[in-house]
Amino acid sequence: MSESRLREEICRYGRSLFERGLTPGSSGNISLRLDDGGWLVTPTNASLGFLDPARISRLDSTGGLVSGDKPTKEIPLHAALYESRGSARAIVHLHSTHAVALTMLPEIDPRAALPPMTPYYLMRAGETALVPYYRPGDPAVADAIRGLAGKYSSVLLANHGPVVAGDSLEAAVFATEELEETARLYLLLRNLNPRYLTPDQVSDLVQTFGLDLPSHHDHDGHDHG
Ligand SMILES: [Zn+2]
Repeated sequence: MSESRLREEICRYGRSLFERGLTPGSSGNISLRLDDGGWLVTPTNASLGFLDPARISRLDSTGGLVSGDKPTKEIPLHAALYESRGSARAIVHLHSTHAVALTMLPEIDPRAALPPMTPYYLMRAGETALVPYYRPGDPAVADAIRGLAGKYSSVLLANHGPVVAGDSLEAAVFATEELEETARLYLLLRNLNPRYLTPDQVSDLVQTFGLDLPSHHDHDGHDHG
């Protein structure tokens, strides 16, 4: 896809996310990794609902600004996830209500922030890690993401929001939407003793669709019985 098409894609998905209330005001940002190692990134203080393709920040492979507006200050977040997820081509970061709410609950497991509630959550978002709170733009968040060793494509930042990598912008957007809707389901069902997918049902999905779930890494090569 040409760079001008990719710029339009960022604006189209950004507007769609904004118009559905998935990230308010000027929150949230999107990045794409280009074939030359450079990136397209949404500018700082830009609303995802009103992006201009010509003003998207174009960075070179070292992160230097080549053209467009000044990039989002959440660059360290994106850089760390690209670094640890070698196949990632796009990253979406939102301040979506239900995913943010989830991060503040006391029972959340930082290595599996959501239980296996639906097949599409596992198929699109995989499992989700939770990292502690950092001030927006704090480079220390990059170390927290590197600490996950590339096992997670979906990460929740405590009291802040989700950051999700995909092998295309569409994949990253769809995974972020699944994460948000699954967080919403969790909140709807919290304390109602819902039935989640069983370990056998999860194993069946992992084997049938070749899912790369961190909780199943330990079982590689073993008989799932
Ligand atoms: Zn943010």
